[in-house]
Amino acid sequence: MQTIDIQRVRKDTPGCEQVVHLNNAGASLMPRQVLDEVVGFLNLEALTGGYEAAEQREAQIARVYESIAALLGCGADEIAVVENATRAWDMAFYAVPFQPGDRILTAMAEYGSNYIAFLQVARQKGVRIDVIPNDEAGQVSVEALKGMLDERVRLIAITHVPTNGGLVNPAAEIGKIARDANILYLLDACQSVGQMPIDVQTTGCDILSGTGRKYLRGPRGTGFLYVRRDWIERLEPPLLDLHAAVWTARDEYVVRKDARRFENWETNYAGKVGLGAAVDYALSLGLDPIWERVSSLGAYMRSCLGAIPGGTLHDLGRVKCGIVSFTVAGIDAETVRKRLLEHKINVSTSPVESTRLDMDERGLTRLVRASVHYFNTGQEIDHFCRVVEQILAG
Ligand SMILES: *Cc1c(COP(=O)(O)O)cnc(C)c1O
Repeated sequence: MQTIDIQRVRKDTPGCEQVVHLNNAGASLMPRQVLDEVVGFLNLEALTGGYEAAEQREAQIARVYESIAALLGCGADEIAVVENATRAWDMAFYAVPFQPGDRILTAMAEYGSNYIAFLQVARQKGVRIDVIPNDEAGQVSVEALKGMLDERVRLIAITHVPTNGGLVNPAAEIGKIARDANILYLLDACQSVGQMPIDVQTTGCDILSGTGRKYLRGPRGTGFLYVRRDWIERLEPPLLDLHAAVWTARDEYVVRKDARRFENWETNYAGKVGLGAAVDYALSLGLDPIWERVSSLGAYMRSCLGAIPGGTLHDLGRVKCGIVSFTVAGIDAETVRKRLLEHKINVSTSPVESTRLDMDERGLTRLVRASVHYFNTGQEIDHFCRVVEQILAG
């Protein structure tokens, strides 16, 4: 397996000279290859006109879909590019033709926005939400899931890697169960895409949502949706426009046959080509070497933090990723974040509202979230841990 040239990727990343960036689960640092595409496209728009720029760069824009398809192991016609992962997820979720009494099976670590959507559909359509319990390692219990299946289950919707910690849910094992039972499977891969290899065929999901700015290192305001070909035409988007559909006669329209039915007409083209460049950058490094590096840096950070008296780690699961969640005795999470920022160390915090089922069950209100990427170094992590010690010492 090729390894990542850390010097080179850091040189590619102007932000590495400015900050210790441990907020890759929030928004990562763009490599200059991405920045150049975004800025270059904006310049072209300014100098030649927006429509004219899009026409001139038509082939490049089309290649964005090819790149995302290569990343996920699917066809370009199965990809929609939208403004964020939430909207991508929503466009698919709200297209599911729920009937009263249908069941949605989800996970303890489900993302807040997704759960709010479940609650809305539960209220509006009389759908039931059933939460699959965790196993003893704190990940979705595959055994429990098997026991929960019946003919009323319309959807299995799972967050792969939650926003609030290192857990990696067993997405492919769940996919196998969903396939065997012929149940629609929606995977929120927002934190996992770009961090680890994900192939929609082996994962077995029918729908997957992802974002640009997190582990893919793309620009903000970009996201994408994968919908398996045989599901696309069975899912009529909740919102349509003249990009998603064609107005064929006074009283008629025809919805597109590819996944772009989930998009809308106006879009941020600079962001889109930036997203394509970010995917290409990840593919050029290789998702296996990226995952190898990210997971081992995550493990290193856990071992350093775990050795600090007063530091408590909160990551669940058998397999742990680059997101490290912790608390510091007697100091609230936001204070820790601000103190780290004074040292130019970027982290974020994760409140109970983002993953309420999981946080409530563990009696947690807010966690500090330090998320590593492959361009981080062991020295940065050592420095971070020394500053955490300083914060503890007052
Ligand atoms: C960040 C996040 C989202 C939302 O992504 P956006 O691009 O901000 O819409 C969804 N799910 C998980 C697990 C996330 O961490």
